[in-house]
Amino acid sequence: MDNPGAAAETAGMVHDADVAIVGGGLNGPVLALALAQAGLPVALVDAQAPRAREAAGFDGRAYAISAGSRRLLQAVGVWAGVAAGAQPILRIRTRDGGARAEASPLDFEGGEIEDGPMGHIVEDRHLHAAMMAAVANEPRIALTQGATVVAQEIGPARVVLRLADGGMVTARVLVGADGRASGTAARAGIGRIAQGYGQTALVAAVAHAQPHGGTAEQVFLPGGPLAILPLAGDRSAIVWSEREPRATAIAALPDGAFLAVLGEAMGGHLGRLTLAGGRFTYPLTLSLAERYVAPRVALAGDAAHGVHPIAGQGLNIGLRDVAALAEVLVTAARRGEDIGAPDVLDRYQVWRRFDATALALGIDRVNALFSNDNPLLRAARVAGMGLVGQIPGLRRGFIRQAAGLTGDLPRLMRGEAI
Ligand SMILES: Cc1cc2nc3c(=O)[nH]c(=O)nc-3n(C[C@H](O)[C@H](O)[C@H](O)COP(=O)(O)OP(=O)(O)OC[C@H]3O[C@@H](n4cnc5c(N)ncnc54)[C@H](O)[C@@H]3O)c2cc1C
Repeated sequence: MDNPGAAAETAGMVHDADVAIVGGGLNGPVLALALAQAGLPVALVDAQAPRAREAAGFDGRAYAISAGSRRLLQAVGVWAGVAAGAQPILRIRTRDGGARAEASPLDFEGGEIEDGPMGHIVEDRHLHAAMMAAVANEPRIALTQGATVVAQEIGPARVVLRLADGGMVTARVLVGADGRASGTAARAGIGRIAQGYGQTALVAAVAHAQPHGGTAEQVFLPGGPLAILPLAGDRSAIVWSEREPRATAIAALPDGAFLAVLGEAMGGHLGRLTLAGGRFTYPLTLSLAERYVAPRVALAGDAAHGVHPIAGQGLNIGLRDVAALAEVLVTAARRGEDIGAPDVLDRYQVWRRFDATALALGIDRVNALFSNDNPLLRAARVAGMGLVGQIPGLRRGFIRQAAGLTGDLPRLMRGEAI
């Protein structure tokens, strides 16, 4: 096992750390950085080969990073690596694009929160690369890439992880940041509730003739929401959730026909469209772990909750887990507690589980309310959007929620050190 960041030969090696993290996607590296910078030795293991993600070029994936998440990325030294290519969200516009398209009064301007835009759009390849560069510079993180964890044994004082290549990691606590199909959760006996939405997300990046002006748009179509997220330059990332079998039919269209259908759904105001990357599909499911902790194990990110992309909140909810878990573990270590003890891990579960589950189910309900053309529900949502737009307190509440600044915020998301 090595640092900096090369694929490690772990065969036969044993590595000891305070915290072992399985998953080098997005949440795992940020957690590793937050813990290591506070003094805890960390082992980070990911199944993907080094730089596999960046080598694919621009795959169309981009994230809406809330102001709260940006503060966390700043605190762990990742934001500087993505800031130049990040597009500020200056305005959020929602439109009901049903049978009769109507403009919605629910428009949010970016200057309405205290420290700048309510969020930024960041491309996956830039975000992941910046995280891995920061990890490579942190001597307290032992990174192993291209190695799959195949077994975990929970002892009275330590966890032992076994890797497919024969390598071994031991730690006081194991964090599963290994995504929706979390093997860490399964091996710890944590069940999950999973439910398909019958929708598929069509994901693409487009270049357009007209500038987007930093406006993020959500168009509510009968088959599901279409998110148009502004990227640096005259480009936008598209996340179009559409009901099956129509989604598969649209995905099968050749590029020209796809762009014609997409252009019509978008409303045409961005002018002529061309593809600026690949086209991808993701079947959409809600996936909730029944518990976030088990003896010496904690789950974070998609391993704990995989949500609908309608509100662009999946990664933001995961980063809240990361900031909360880092704060709980670092505080416990400073008090001389066993960081893998049940009462320590319970503090994390109590902090995050209700909040994340309520948000996941709230997002689920919003999707159900908006993904149809029922005239009564249409009237209710148009009236609801109007109400929110007109009442200043409510409007400000919505903006602060979108910016990730409501609720019991961990210190790293308040711009404070742990
Ligand atoms: C279409 C779409 C659009 C989205 N848009 C947004 C958005 O705008 N904003 C937002 O906040 N979120 C968005 N999300 C959600 C976001 O992509 C996820 O929440 C986020 O990627 C989850 O990160 P993670 O690190 O928890 O898991 P993952 O990114 O899934 O990473 C898991 C990692 O674990 C590793 N792993 C798994 N098993 C093992 C093993 N046994 N051994 C070693 N390693 C292992 C894998 O190699 C992988 O690298 C979107 C999602 C979708 C599908």
